[in-house]
Amino acid sequence: MSTERTLVLVKPDGVQRGLVAEVIGRFERRGLHLVAMRMLLMDRSLAERHYAEHVGKPFFEGLVAFITSAPVVAMVWEAPGAVALVRSVMGATDPKNSAPGTIRGDLAVSIGANVVHGSDSPGRAVEEISLFFEPGALVEWTSAAQDWVVSS
Ligand code: UDP
Ligand code: MG
Repeated sequence: MSTERTLVLVKPDGVQRGLVAEVIGRFERRGLHLVAMRMLLMDRSLAERHYAEHVGKPFFEGLVAFITSAPVVAMVWEAPGAVALVRSVMGATDPKNSAPGTIRGDLAVSIGANVVHGSDSPGRAVEEISLFFEPGALVEWTSAAQDWVVSS
């Protein structure tokens, strides 16, 4: 499986509830590599580009109001198959379906305030990363730290 990068946001509720370290810790312990991170207050323009697929849906205005209401922590995580891996660690969008053991399954009861965002496809990951980070803001891990290669 090829190495991928994906965008993760700790949403305003996660920041306000003191869950930034919890979210980072779950991805670190799973074994992904953190390659970029910044804290910011998203504005409407960025929210519309980030959530472009949801423009016009009934929940869109509430989603924009929520994501711009307080700072988020934006991160880029790297691993083989990182996009799907992050989605599985996050859990399902709707808390009724998010399994215990996932971030949302353990920490969220609301479909709106659900702690984290993760890109939903490799193509969107590339686009979303570019919304939050200049290319030079992403670090390279040293070869000594590459622990994904299993010899068999
Ligand atoms: N959302 C919402 N109501 C809905 C569907 C989605 O408030 O009925 C919010 C929710 O915060 C979700 C975000 O919109 O995380 C983006 O929706 P998406 O379907 O892309 O879910 P995600 O990719 O975050 O799991
Ligand atoms: Mg989504």
